[in-house]
Amino acid sequence: MEETDVIDSVPTQLFIGGQWRSAARTMPVEDPSTGEVLCEVADANPEEALAALDAAAAAQAEWAATAPRERSEILSRAYDVIIEQTERLALLMTLEMGKPLAESRGEVSYAAEFLRWFAEEAVRIDGGYMTAPAGNSRFLVMRQPVGPSILITPWNFPMAMGTRKIGPAIAAGCTSVIKPASQTPLSTLALVDILTQAGLPPGVVNVVTTTSSDEVMTPLILDPRSRKLSFTGSTPVGKHLLELAAKTVMRTSMELGGNAPFLVFEDADLDVAVEGAMQAKMRNIGQACTAANRILVHRERAEEFAERLAERMAQLPVGRGVEDGVVVGPLINQGAVDKVHELVTDAVGHGATARLGGAPLDRPGYFYPATVLTGVPAEAQLTSTEIFGPVAPITSFDTEDEAVSLANDTPYGLISYVFTRDLDRAIRVSEALETGMVGLNQGVISNPAAPFGGIKESGLGREGGFSGIDEFLETKYVGIKA
Ligand code: NAP
Repeated sequence: MEETDVIDSVPTQLFIGGQWRSAARTMPVEDPSTGEVLCEVADANPEEALAALDAAAAAQAEWAATAPRERSEILSRAYDVIIEQTERLALLMTLEMGKPLAESRGEVSYAAEFLRWFAEEAVRIDGGYMTAPAGNSRFLVMRQPVGPSILITPWNFPMAMGTRKIGPAIAAGCTSVIKPASQTPLSTLALVDILTQAGLPPGVVNVVTTTSSDEVMTPLILDPRSRKLSFTGSTPVGKHLLELAAKTVMRTSMELGGNAPFLVFEDADLDVAVEGAMQAKMRNIGQACTAANRILVHRERAEEFAERLAERMAQLPVGRGVEDGVVVGPLINQGAVDKVHELVTDAVGHGATARLGGAPLDRPGYFYPATVLTGVPAEAQLTSTEIFGPVAPITSFDTEDEAVSLANDTPYGLISYVFTRDLDRAIRVSEALETGMVGLNQGVISNPAAPFGGIKESGLGREGGFSGIDEFLETKYVGIKA
């Protein structure tokens, strides 16, 4: 399919109560690899967004009463259509977000797998029955949908972050209003179009696109009909939304920022560690909450590791994500390039050495080259800031205790990576790391069947795995006189 045909194939209006509706205003969607506008999409105001919550609230009771098998089959059909349309959806994602086509294909598959997983979970929602310890009562425990849910997603994984929430919400019997990031609304619009074709009834999922996130979403979050807020995005915005959610004691799931330590011990297999670093650093051009943000290598291996990583990163082709073989696509916007460059300049100013890259590329679009920094001191800002770009900062350590203490020296706690061939150390260090996830000799561990999520300021709750559906279910206990 041609680029323009793909863009033309996607609805660009608000989706409310099963209908595509125009908004009074529109907003442009840009291709970050050229800076050119791809199309205009509805830019909702607060009243238009409230209609989406009205539709979700109106559909809730009937949706909660549908047979789990029916919900499951809608998700299964949508999974099949997404897989059939992988090429169209991948091109769409690359155009609006910039990541290379091969990665977009991977994300389409990852996104679809959440629908398949939750199609399987929809029919396995269980409860309980037991006798009270004193024998004088019976406990009946039932699971019920939380109710209308507000889903807010970021731009970096524009489809998978949507299905990771929509999948379990549908499976649990919750209706929802989803608001994708204003930079990447098209993947969500295409996804909801497919769910509708798969038989999703009107009002079950509603889409609000807007450039006024705060003004538009605050009234929805404060509305007592909204019973759940599931957010993926930055920690500062997550904290703000938690304050709003507190006003109605709303259930929340928070998938927030990270500052992943990547530990390479002296006994590590360097082939495996360098490969892992390439994945953990370069996936999504470094724009992932799971991206290796601080690479900590035992002093004995640090030089060899840095040399091999720089050699691999120097070979990565840069260009528009739609071009064959490209690995380093653009960052999301000029602000992202400026921020990454500021962090690199600051690190070099504090004594780090740029072994590769280190300055923005002079070409249209928002490109920053793969960069390797060595000798990065603790004072450099990028050790405490999410870099969100293709920059690998390497620091060395001398002992296991020092490595663990450096790794945990952050308010974030999403993921860490450990490379070692020593089983005792692998277990000991995995237990000591203060993160919700650990990649052991592996640079990418995201999987729809696994519980994804962070601790500390990286979030609350888990998405995917057996616990993913729990985020959209309430537990009700009925005490029965024996
Ligand atoms: P962001 O600025 O926090 O935005 C995330 C979403 O929230 C977007 O849809 C954004 O819309 C919306 N938003 C912003 N302010 C809001 C407000 N006051 N009220 C309601 N909605 C609001 O994050 P981002 O830059 O899109 O994404 C990158 C961040 O997400 C990174 O920190 C990354 O680590 C994190 N992330 C975490 C995970 C995880 O699973 N833990 C996964 C992916 C990304 P607009 O942008 O249109 O304003």
